[in-house]
Amino acid sequence: MPTFIKCPVCHTETPWTGNPHRPFCSERCRFVDLGAWADGKYRIADDEREDESQPADETDRQ
Ligand SMILES: [Zn+2]
Repeated sequence: MPTFIKCPVCHTETPWTGNPHRPFCSERCRFVDLGAWADGKYRIADDEREDESQPADETDRQ
């Protein structure tokens, strides 16, 4: 009886044995997880200062 694991991304039960994408169910979920890391989802959020939006001084010259 094969071991089933749950994909950490989509929580689909997927067989552990013979799964090249483990612990994910598919390549797609593997990339989703990688993308989340690359996105900084798991990083400690930087204390971003809000930029003061400076309105462009647009003067229409006629
Ligand atoms: Zn999945």
